[in-house]
Amino acid sequence: MANVLWLQGGACSGNTISFLNAEEPSVCDLITDFGINVLWHPSLGLELGDNLQQLLKDCISGKIPLDILVFEGTVVNAPKGTGEWNRFAGRPMKEWLQELAAVANFVVAVGDCATYGGIPAMAPNPSESQGLQFLKREKGGFLGTDFRSQAGLPVINIPGCPAHPDWISQILVAVATNRLGDVTLDEFHRPETFFKSFTQTGCTRNIHFAYKATTSDFGQRKGCLFYDLGCRGPMTHSSCNRILWNRVSSKTRAGMPCLGCTEPEFPFHDLKPGTVFKTQTVMGVPKELPTGINKKDYALLTIVAKDSTPEWAEEDIFTV
Ligand code: SF4
Ligand code: SF4
Repeated sequence: MANVLWLQGGACSGNTISFLNAEEPSVCDLITDFGINVLWHPSLGLELGDNLQQLLKDCISGKIPLDILVFEGTVVNAPKGTGEWNRFAGRPMKEWLQELAAVANFVVAVGDCATYGGIPAMAPNPSESQGLQFLKREKGGFLGTDFRSQAGLPVINIPGCPAHPDWISQILVAVATNRLGDVTLDEFHRPETFFKSFTQTGCTRNIHFAYKATTSDFGQRKGCLFYDLGCRGPMTHSSCNRILWNRVSSKTRAGMPCLGCTEPEFPFHDLKPGTVFKTQTVMGVPKELPTGINKKDYALLTIVAKDSTPEWAEEDIFTV
């Protein structure tokens, strides 16, 4: 049996909604088949007021063993480092987090906000938000670079806006069943099993990418979204086209560019008119090229690809 406590900081609850939609395994499977005991969750927990405070205190004192602490949302430090803007169970949430993280066997950050600070930490960051061990790309975050949970691991980060439901439930299973040894974390503490390959891996538009057949409209069933609509699939580490959303689709399959939501710089755009969903170019060349391709090779590739594009690569993918 693994006790899981799920808390929310500066959050929209998107990761909770995502988690409740998990299918492989589902939240019910976690409880019935994988020995997970949800001590408390903002949408599922029964305790309120004094009872909730007591439960949290019992976790901190060790009376209730805390196996997995899951945190969703940013750590809010405003105003002036006090954390008073995000009070929970009688005190700033960040104080509970500090004490609970110190006793938890494992700490898991779910979603971009808990991982890197996400949208709330965009400049000028009025809520003084941080992720648990990162602020965007910068190491440290609220718990500090050296933080290790009782099991000796840093915070396990599952980014995404929101994180894919099965990324969350499968990592919880790995932790609860003691199989985390099979999981390698990358430089941002993301489990490689979900974040080593790029969003482009498995995208149905790869052939259009290769032939430089583009689309400049959303929802089209032809054309790659990189050249005009700013798709970040070739620069984003995620398994969105390998582990499909709702088992059937992904953004790029539906004709919507990847926004790069699993990377520290998300949401990337400065939100100036003309920068969102528009590939930024210099002299016709995208400012940001797919990871691993240099400008010279890209230019060469482009000429060859354009000259050899077969007619069918310009057609609707459902008619070829
Ligand atoms: S750039 Fe985007 S749409 Fe094009 S192939 Fe890559 S992931 Fe798919
Ligand atoms: S396709 Fe891109 S923006 Fe969409 S969920 Fe996956 S990584 Fe995030």
